[in-house]
This record gives sequence, structure tokens and C-alpha cells, in this order.
Amino acid sequence: MKILVLNSGSSSIKYQLIDMEDESVLAKGIVQRIGIDNSFLEHENNRRDEVKIEVDIPDHTTGIKLVIDALLNKEHGVLESMDEINAVGHRVVHGGEKFAESTLITEEVIKQIEEVSDLAPLHNPHNLTGIRVCAKLLPNKPQVAVFDTAFHQTMPRKAYMYALPYEYYEKYGIRRYGFHGTSHKYVAQRAAKLMGKPLEELKIITCHLGNGASIAAVDGGKSVDTSMGLTPLEGLVMGTRCGDIDPAIIPFIMTKEGLSMEEIDNIMNKKSGLYGVSGISNDSRDVEAAAKEGNQRAQTALEMFDYRVTKYIGAYMAAMAGVDAIVFTAGIGENQSRTREVIVNNLAFLNIHLNEEANKTRGKEIEISTSDSDVKVFVIPTNEELMIARDTQEIVAG
Ligand code: AMP
Repeated sequence: MKILVLNSGSSSIKYQLIDMEDESVLAKGIVQRIGIDNSFLEHENNRRDEVKIEVDIPDHTTGIKLVIDALLNKEHGVLESMDEINAVGHRVVHGGEKFAESTLITEEVIKQIEEVSDLAPLHNPHNLTGIRVCAKLLPNKPQVAVFDTAFHQTMPRKAYMYALPYEYYEKYGIRRYGFHGTSHKYVAQRAAKLMGKPLEELKIITCHLGNGASIAAVDGGKSVDTSMGLTPLEGLVMGTRCGDIDPAIIPFIMTKEGLSMEEIDNIMNKKSGLYGVSGISNDSRDVEAAAKEGNQRAQTALEMFDYRVTKYIGAYMAAMAGVDAIVFTAGIGENQSRTREVIVNNLAFLNIHLNEEANKTRGKEIEISTSDSDVKVFVIPTNEELMIARDTQEIVAG
């Protein structure tokens, strides 16, 4: 079975075509700058041919048509005919409380995704556009929605409720949902495999540290808490997001600076985090380089990032009454050995110790704790596309 995995954003579409026979990636790529000038498609196949096609891409329909053309192309394509695609798996950011699992897309499901779009106005409408375009371009192919929030639907009420008047939960669904669920689930499953133990018997803390970053407490394979909330803004210090702050800061700054709701929202989502504190970049590599050259604000930004991750790990150990494994994943978690070193060294008092040699490894699954460490620490590259393809296959196969 061959499955096309799509992640449709406002101006981009990421895709992978996965052969479920051996779970290999046949082709992957990205459509960029949809509806903006200088739009293009970057495509790579499993023969390592890379192409960049620069054409006008005014909308998602044109973008997805280009993806299909690239997959069918005589030179850099990997398919003889569209019939070879058996199903399409879509990443959908917010499933609200309606979706605790991936689901086959029907008209009713589309309506339900629309209903929760209020909770993710920057993401769900674009995910839906991808779904609608595929329904037109690939009619009769089953389509499956895989939600970023679904894995966290197992959180207990005490973890997902905010201490606000209860009516806001009832009226608007104001609660913690959490995100990156597909990634947390994948790396937790892999950690259990690497430990040779059933996931059901393990307490795992998964740290998805990328430009967007979140941590999850996974007890017996179920998410019991996570750092992102109603939206992806809560929790860790991120590339441009502030994460946890005193909510009273918002009206205070709005009043002092005469800001609108939209402006303060933009500041917290796009102008804060590593970028806001360092004043340099949202990219941890740039911030680290500046800190090395003695830039104090860059140094502070990194220390805040590491400290916040450490605090959450401590909190989730307490929440689960213990931990068997800690996993690092995503751009920073997979690549920034300094970040991992600082965080793991912060946990030395719990007899959690870093194998410095192993910690130098990049881009592959590896245990980075010493053999006498009380808790295993892993780096596990995430693979959300594969998880989407697996769920899609399972649902389509019935
Ligand atoms: P993501 O959102 O998962 O793509 O992660 C983006 C973050 O990962 C950025 O802060 C990058 O600095 C960091 N990152 C990505 N690749 C590398 C790398 N090869 N070395 C160090 N940091 C990296």
C-alpha cells in the first residue's frame, strides 16, 4: 500500500509518499510560498534526485496538482499512475474533544473539524483546504485525518482543566489540549522498543524541542500531561513563543503600550521566546553562536530554555511518581548536544547521568545515558509522517 501524507499550512504543503510494504519514503518535498511571489516546489525521490520547480502557485489546488505531477514525472517521479496511491493521510492540528483517535474523513468529519477550527484558526482551515482539494483531485481515494491533539485526549481532568470559571470550559471548550501528539506517541513507542519492555509498563517523559516545543508525561503509553495548552503558546520557551508567563502581564503590556488584542497575540507568538529574549534569532544555532561570542542576552535566552525544560521534567516525574526514560526529539532535541548536556547534567542529583561520547551522535536513535544511570535517556529522531501513514493504513485496511 502506498500512502500520500500531507501537511497543509497557510502558504506551504509538505508531503511524503510512503510505501507501507517496508515503510520506506518513495518521495518527499514541500510546496512553498503559495499565494505569494516566488513560489516553488522542492521534490526529492528515493534515488536522491532533487528538483526545484519555480512556478506561480496561486492556491492549494495548484500546489497539490504540482505534487501529483512531480510524483508521476518520467524523470524524477516514482509512480506510473495515480492509481498506485491507495490513500491520503492528512495532518490536522486541532481535533478538540471530538477526536481522540485518527479517523476516516467523511462530510460529517469535515464539519466537525470546522466546528473546532475556532481553537486553531491559523491551522485547521488550511488543513481542511488540503483535505477538500485532495477530495477533488483524488476522488475515491480514502482520506484519513490524524490529529496533533488526539494522543493527549487521555489526560485526566485535573491535568487538562484550567482554574477559570467552569462555564468557559462548558461554553467554549477552554482546556488544555496539547500538541505534537503524533511525535510524542512515536518517540514513546520507539523508546519502549529500544528498552525491550512493553510501553504499558513504562513511565516516559518525551521532550519535543524544535522551533515549537513541548514536553509530555507518558504513563503506560498514555499521555497524562503535556506542556502546551489550549493553543501551542503555553509551556516551554520556544523559538518565537513565550511559553508560560503570568497572564496578568498581558493586560499590563497592552495598557502601557496601547496594543490591540491582535498585536499582543503576535508579540507572544512571533516576537518572544529565544528571539525575543536574545534579540538575535529564533534559531537556536544562531543564539548559541552569539552566546559563545559573549552576547549576554543570547546566553540568558539559552539558560531560560534549558531551565524551563528541566523544571517540566521535574514536574512530570512528580506527576507520574517516577520516570523510566527521558527522550529528546525534534530539531533541537535531535541536534543540539549542548542543550541535552545541560539538561541531563541538571538531573545528576537523581542519579541520571550523561554518556558524553554518545551525546555527540547526531541524527540517529541512541541511548545517551550511562549504563549506571537510574533513568535511561534517549535521542530519537521523530517521524510524524510515518505515524500518519501507519494510522492511515490501519484505518483504510479496516
Ligand atoms: P524544528 O522545528 O523541529 O525543525 O527545529 C528547529 C530548531 O532546531 C531550530 O532552533 C534549529 O536551530 C534547531 N536545529 C535544526 N537542525 C539543527 C542542527 N543540525 N544542529 C543544531 N540545531 C539544529
